[in-house]
Amino acid sequence: MPELPEVECIVRSLRPRLEGLRLKHVELRSAIVASPDSAKAIARLSGGCVRSLGRRGKFLLLHMESGCCAIHLRMTGRLIWEGDTGPYTRAVFHFDSGRLVLDDPRQFARIEAGAALPESVLRLGPEPFDLSPEEFAARLRARRGRIKPLLLDQRFLAGLGNIYADEALHRARIHPLARAGRIARSRAASLHAAILSLLEEAIAAGGSSISDYVDGTGARGAFQQQHRVYGREGQPCPACGASIRRIVLGQRGTWFCPRCQRL
Ligand SMILES: [Zn+2]
Repeated sequence: MPELPEVECIVRSLRPRLEGLRLKHVELRSAIVASPDSAKAIARLSGGCVRSLGRRGKFLLLHMESGCCAIHLRMTGRLIWEGDTGPYTRAVFHFDSGRLVLDDPRQFARIEAGAALPESVLRLGPEPFDLSPEEFAARLRARRGRIKPLLLDQRFLAGLGNIYADEALHRARIHPLARAGRIARSRAASLHAAILSLLEEAIAAGGSSISDYVDGTGARGAFQQQHRVYGREGQPCPACGASIRRIVLGQRGTWFCPRCQRL
């Protein structure tokens, strides 16, 4: 599913195309892609111009003249500028020139709209780039749970999903089952640095195209070629050569190197 780098790449690919365009109307082809309230709010936003395109966590934000539209792609959602419509098309944003197509085979993607940012966006924790290493370490110290599920908790930190949580922990040499509150300050700082460098590299590579991710122009990312642990069970760790292991943690596959990341 698209995580912070992928959503950032979608935003960057769409920004020069969408900003300033007038939204004529939004065609909702699925009854569940937007709640009845959001569907009404989307209708109210129509007629206005796109002021800016942004991102918060894994949400893409369409800031309009009279409100905001937040789109979460979840597992298989795709937003394609001037895309073709088909059986998986859930919504089409029609602009005065061009259209944006939301396709989603599994129908988990959601559009929320209103005069202000939706509650699901307001509830998010800080962006990784907005935290200092000290603030990040202090947030870790205050938590009792294990580190991997904590990194996936969007109220703790916005934007990381399964891929980048596993990759960041490997870079920082921290076991996914380590107790967050017991991670030493220096290790916490290196985890924070690992998260930032990882996200920057992933954005620069156009994101990770696991399964079917593409950006807003249909371009695939290349960062999956640089994954060190994610999805690499049984393959050698690029740092030490040990065999990468997979465990299930909180119903999610979790990949790590048993030699680099000791408990
Ligand atoms: Zn290793």
